[in-house]
Amino acid sequence: MKVDVAIVGAGLAGLAAARQLSIHGFSIALFEADSRVGGRVQSDHHDSGAIMDRGFQLYNPAYPEAARVLDHSALDLRSFTSGLISCTTHGNLRLADPRKVPQWAPASALPPSGSLRSKLSFIRYALEQRNRSARTIASQPEQSAAQALSNAGVNGDFYREIIQPFLAGVFLESELNTSSRFLDLILKSFLRGSPSVPSRGMQTIPDQLADALPDGVIHLNTPVAAVTEDSVTAAGRNWQAQAVIVAVDSTTAHQLVGVQSAPWNSVTTWYHLAPRTELTHGKPVLVVNGGGVGALSDSSIINSVVLTNAAPEYAPGHSLISTSAIGIHPRDLPLHGALTKMYETNTSSWELIGHYPISHALPAMSVPLTVEKPARHGPVFLAGDYRATSSIQGAMVSGRRAADSAIRQLLELSDTDTPFEGREHVRA
Ligand SMILES: Cc1cc2nc3c(=O)[nH]c(=O)nc-3n(C[C@H](O)[C@H](O)[C@H](O)COP(=O)(O)OP(=O)(O)OC[C@H]3O[C@@H](n4cnc5c(N)ncnc54)[C@H](O)[C@@H]3O)c2cc1C
Repeated sequence: MKVDVAIVGAGLAGLAAARQLSIHGFSIALFEADSRVGGRVQSDHHDSGAIMDRGFQLYNPAYPEAARVLDHSALDLRSFTSGLISCTTHGNLRLADPRKVPQWAPASALPPSGSLRSKLSFIRYALEQRNRSARTIASQPEQSAAQALSNAGVNGDFYREIIQPFLAGVFLESELNTSSRFLDLILKSFLRGSPSVPSRGMQTIPDQLADALPDGVIHLNTPVAAVTEDSVTAAGRNWQAQAVIVAVDSTTAHQLVGVQSAPWNSVTTWYHLAPRTELTHGKPVLVVNGGGVGALSDSSIINSVVLTNAAPEYAPGHSLISTSAIGIHPRDLPLHGALTKMYETNTSSWELIGHYPISHALPAMSVPLTVEKPARHGPVFLAGDYRATSSIQGAMVSGRRAADSAIRQLLELSDTDTPFEGREHVRA
């Protein structure tokens, strides 16, 4: 049977494209190589009952595209506190929004020595992004995030011990060579919403999108070997379609349709189970490596977090600690020394229950960065975070844009016609 649109890849980009097409009444077939949907957003369940996301990641309910599409109340989000603990060579520093953690207000007001000016510069810089539109940010002159922050007066210990390690964990690269455009978009979303996890794991996000699709449209365990403008070859069969959306990662897209691939930033995440204890004062905050567990580099530990402080459902009756390092590292990397410093407690009894080395975690968002790359690539349409920003928001918005472009082609609208917004159920 010929469908309107064949979609390759059931990560968030492919699922978002599928959603947009099916709510507008187009028939789809969605091909996924893996045995489940979600791509880079998946969760595993350990025998102990613990939920381990495949790499530590957070969902920000302020992501505009995701907020438009996802049912937040069904996700049952558990949010993290706007603050962090930095493990430095001169002790652990606490920093939090005083409205959210008033007990930490005195410590937060006293920033690392000699850096009050730097801290105020950062606040000013971040607040400037809050009310700028994403479109304005995406089109402004760019430089590296490190350069933009330095030019704004964010430097010294405050930069090295707080801002750099925090952002290294977001970008998965320690030098902050990432484009200032992506930095500004990230700061904007942090100021507008609290990063969260769904109480039943990050996998709930793609599952929610998949569950809303018509029955029988998702073909799991079906890697696509080749695509043309009107067909995909999968499982030894040729599937006909009027249009094809390739919603795979950039390396696979390069192999399938020759699009330029992006370099990858990689990360390794370990999960430890500990008896339920009050770590980080019971607060759901990130503990970053501000130099206290070795100089920050592209192979060092960047952060750790007690997930159960935000979402007790992640390991009922226990504390579940997720620790990440940039780069690929073995399961048995000795971590207890670093964890003992980060949590200021003996961690030798913590049980290692999960290890996720992820070489293809984030497509690098280096300068120059085009935040909205064209959805059309020769005869096919492209979706995926590398077409926008390496984030859940980027993946989902790229999927919707690719779907809109495909719809325009199917309806024989020109690319200059008004965006395909609000034309719900045009075919229904
Ligand atoms: C460790 C980690 C931490 C992250 N942290 C955050 C965070 O905190 N916040 C945030 O917003 N984002 C975060 N991200 C980024 C976010 O998860 C990704 O940007 C997003 O999930 C990418 O979705 P995608 O659909 O573009 O690509 P993918 O998820 O890679 O989906 C592509 C899909 O295509 C399938 N596929 C590949 N080849 C074929 C083929 N030949 N045939 C059929 N199917 C194929 C794959 O199996 C996959 O399911 C993180 C990512 C990782 C890995």
